[in-house]
Amino acid sequence: MGKGVAVVVGGSVAGLACAHAVAGAGWDVVVLEKAAAPAAGGGTGAGLGLDAQSMETLARWIPGWGLDAATLPLAVDLSRATDSETKAARTLARDDNFNFRAAHWGDLHRRLHEALPPAVTVLWGHQFLSFEAPDDARGVVATARVLRTGETVDVTGDLLVAADGSTSSIRRRFLPDLKLRYSGYCAWRGVFDFAGKESSDTMIGMRRAYPDLGSCLYFDLAYKTHAVLYELARSRLNWLWYINGPEPKLTGASVTMEATDAMVARMRDEAERVWCPELARLIRETAAPFVNVIYDADPLPRLSWAGGRVVLVGDAAHPTTPHGLRSTNMSVVDASALGRCLAKWDTELTPARALAEYEAARLPVVAAQVMHARRLGRIKQGLPVDGEAEGFDVRMATAEDALQLRQSTMPFFGGAPTADDGGL
Ligand SMILES: Cc1cc2nc3c(=O)[nH]c(=O)nc-3n(C[C@H](O)[C@H](O)[C@H](O)COP(=O)(O)OP(=O)(O)OC[C@H]3O[C@@H](n4cnc5c(N)ncnc54)[C@H](O)[C@@H]3O)c2cc1C
Repeated sequence: MGKGVAVVVGGSVAGLACAHAVAGAGWDVVVLEKAAAPAAGGGTGAGLGLDAQSMETLARWIPGWGLDAATLPLAVDLSRATDSETKAARTLARDDNFNFRAAHWGDLHRRLHEALPPAVTVLWGHQFLSFEAPDDARGVVATARVLRTGETVDVTGDLLVAADGSTSSIRRRFLPDLKLRYSGYCAWRGVFDFAGKESSDTMIGMRRAYPDLGSCLYFDLAYKTHAVLYELARSRLNWLWYINGPEPKLTGASVTMEATDAMVARMRDEAERVWCPELARLIRETAAPFVNVIYDADPLPRLSWAGGRVVLVGDAAHPTTPHGLRSTNMSVVDASALGRCLAKWDTELTPARALAEYEAARLPVVAAQVMHARRLGRIKQGLPVDGEAEGFDVRMATAEDALQLRQSTMPFFGGAPTADDGGL
């Protein structure tokens, strides 16, 4: 028997990270996830960048994490300008002390799942519907639908952890008026698999145009647009391309949009116009590119509700644009901080003190990081910031202007405080 039972809603990166951390604090954990099964590995999702703090934290949960070949170094953060007329590239800003690692979402998710301790039960195919946290009683009761059978089940615990992503229904219950904010652009994304094709013209061209692939996070900026490129383990190149435009209509809760053949064809033609021939070719040859509509939200006033029985983590707590590579990194630190706070306050009858400390540690950090990522995205997309009439124009940018593009400008870049280290 653990010290309490935590019901975690959502079994993606934030949910599974919390399961590790909360079980590490001596609790039993039940995860409710609507997906039918864990990610199979490399097939689901695309690339993500992990900072040193996340790598260290993940290594506590996943045996061998960081010591094997599952991640590649991102030692360099490099921003370059592409002249769309001549296709010439010039360096804007280069940071050789970046110290991130590139991972594949599917690999990270699979490894987090495989390493879960026995105190964690994951109920796949369980769609969370609602919860009760009666005023006059301790504990929470979560109700879920078993998607395979249609039956409804109740799961009782002492704490409800909302890890149900950027469109969180649990957050909506406490903050019904909080709306996601469309950033003004969407991202085309793709993973190019070059296994067995290292000596193809495409890859020879890519290695020539991007000589630091394998250890570098490339940002290519053109007029009012930018692209991101880096290599992943097991012969894959991950790319993203942000395009300004009106907000598309989305159906359902997902921020990923189905791309029609006509949309893909138009995007590939446009890539020829904007980018150097090597990147345009890579984009043309990538199978099944997809579109993410980019949203974030203004920082939340609180992360814990219901007298310290409900807590928000991950994208549910801080939907963010991806420009500071924060989403997964914030999720990992949320989990770690939550686990430390629960361990520290484990003599309390309810987790309220622990959640207050978690909130005090995380709220200022995630608020600053979300707002910085928003600003960085707008700068790179040439959209006005700070009330200025004109946005950043990469064609005229000086080396000094370009310093603001570096990833190291992110608040708490060197690591965020957690409950243990006196940062509260
Ligand atoms: C399939 C998938 C692939 C991804 N690929 C990438 C990637 O390649 N690169 C990247 O940077 N980020 C990716 N992400 C997003 C990334 O995981 C998050 O941005 C970040 O790590 C924070 O994760 P999160 O767990 O808070 O949110 P999310 O990853 O969005 O997870 C929320 C989880 O909650 C579950 N959920 C929501 N509502 C309910 C409900 N009512 N009942 C039960 N379960 C529910 C969802 O099914 C999902 O698993 C991906 C997310 C998913 C789900």
